[in-house]
Amino acid sequence: MNHDSPANEAQQPHAAAAFCLLTLALFDTATAAWAAPTASPGFPQLSDELRQGALISGTAELRPLRIDGRELPIGADGAIVFGLGRDQKEVQICIGPASKQRCETRAVQPGKWRIERVNGLPPKTVTPDPETAARIAREAALVVEARRVSSTGRGFLGPWQQPASGRISGIYGSQRILNGVPGSTHLGLDIAAPTGDPVLAAADGQVSLVHQDMVLSGKTVLIDHGQGVSTVYIHMSEIAVAEGQAVKRGERIGSIGATGRASGPHLHWGLNWFEVKLDPRMLLED
Ligand SMILES: [Zn+2]
Repeated sequence: MNHDSPANEAQQPHAAAAFCLLTLALFDTATAAWAAPTASPGFPQLSDELRQGALISGTAELRPLRIDGRELPIGADGAIVFGLGRDQKEVQICIGPASKQRCETRAVQPGKWRIERVNGLPPKTVTPDPETAARIAREAALVVEARRVSSTGRGFLGPWQQPASGRISGIYGSQRILNGVPGSTHLGLDIAAPTGDPVLAAADGQVSLVHQDMVLSGKTVLIDHGQGVSTVYIHMSEIAVAEGQAVKRGERIGSIGATGRASGPHLHWGLNWFEVKLDPRMLLED
């Protein structure tokens, strides 16, 4: 099973209200003030703390610039962006041409992930039949392809907004243990709301994928925000945009629903830097 599918989170039923209350009760409210350290000469200035799950933006000083071996796209004004995975412990930043390359390895601050224990669930759903499994794989490949896009879009610079209003019913990073059995890690933000409520673009961008009926994620929209940053919106009841369409932050892209494998109406909102899944909630912090 491809754990990078946006639909992956839906493989485990969302286990409804009890589950969601648990996560809310565990929220951290205090966030320590953080001052950006001064970069070593030639290294990029970064505007964010290096934290697991974070989208990091900054300005390139020297080019080329590589993050963990991947050459970063650099905006015309030097803007850069990259992401740090949920379990990433350090990040390597290299600057300059290969013959004169200098590298620094920096620590990544660990996230505080929840363990969500849910008991008394019905026995696990049966594994998909071969035909359905093949369809799931084909759909996941479409998403992988869309996330390879590295456009010159500037939406990643923000501002960002929460794409729906409602109760937060699932957070990024949680390890789910269902009936005592470790389940998949939840790598997005769940917002529970009534079917038909609006789903809005979280930032400016261009719609890079529309799918009306994915097995696991139902009605699905991906938006490209530039330089490898994308967001995904799944389980919608209807889609209001078309592939290739430019969207502005706050523009309606669809409606809350429970399509795909969802136990109730909610939006699963995901954030990616290329294939790396990030925590969208961090975009909403000051
Ligand atoms: Zn979710």
